[in-house]
Amino acid sequence: MAQIDDLPPLRDVIAEHGLNAKKSLGQNFLLDLNLTSRIARSAGSLEDCTVLEVGPGPGGLTRALLAAGAKRVIAIEKDSRCLPALAEISAHYPGRLEVIEGDALEIDPVALTGGDKVRIAANLPYNVGTQLLINWITTPDWPPFWSSLTLMFQKEVGERISASPGSKAYGRLAVLAGWRCKGGILFDISPKAFTPPPKVTSAVVHLEPNASPLPCDLKALEKITAAAFGQRRKMLRASLKSLSADAEELVTKAGLKPTARAEEIDIAGFVDLANTFRAAQAV
Ligand code: SAM
Repeated sequence: MAQIDDLPPLRDVIAEHGLNAKKSLGQNFLLDLNLTSRIARSAGSLEDCTVLEVGPGPGGLTRALLAAGAKRVIAIEKDSRCLPALAEISAHYPGRLEVIEGDALEIDPVALTGGDKVRIAANLPYNVGTQLLINWITTPDWPPFWSSLTLMFQKEVGERISASPGSKAYGRLAVLAGWRCKGGILFDISPKAFTPPPKVTSAVVHLEPNASPLPCDLKALEKITAAAFGQRRKMLRASLKSLSADAEELVTKAGLKPTARAEEIDIAGFVDLANTFRAAQAV
């Protein structure tokens, strides 16, 4: 295993601080510093930016980010048992690691990072990972406060983020992510790499903001994709009925076939639908 710093091995840290993993907090710790370093490297150049990490746990990825030269890491951790271990890392890298105890879903990341160039890197807790990603890719301002996301998810979630039309995994997440971001899965990580091992394979996803996504109202796109994929087996003229009394006309005006199903429509098609829907509402 790579030696990336003079801090104790993560297994010793976990034993010393009694960090037995809690399922309720999605705790599957990554102890292989080769892998945490690979994730840190995948985040891009870190010297000139603040890295926001969610769920540092005992600090494996945190250490890799700091060893890779991150100017500053701000880490949000819900489990107070991890704080003493993280304080040791902070002491080892004076002035470069700030740990915030709390729930990442309730903390405003923009206020926290204060206008710095931000990269987000995390081995996300499975129970809140998708919601955090949605929060980050649906910020009202675009380009967003972050310049990249390097995130570990269950592989199935990674596939839903990067899915193409026509595939089983294609849905709201792929449309939102594909509309506003570029990137996808970088590599998989076997359950064996974690302590305790999860039931499924994980995947590291890297996304960067599209500088100029197709012009579209976010709220309209969210409504259209929710309705269309909420009943994905139905034709659009039926699945969009909850949004428009004349769903057939809406779909036709958007230049699409009313008999098409959500999974056949590409991102540009959804943008056309959302813009047509928005225009009809404005009348
Ligand atoms: N980064 C560590 C690693 O790679 O070994 C731990 C990753 S573990 C999959 C997820 C971490 O997120 C745990 O430390 C857990 O306590 C923390 N966590 C869970 N829910 C959280 C939340 N809502 N906000 C912040 N941290 C959370």
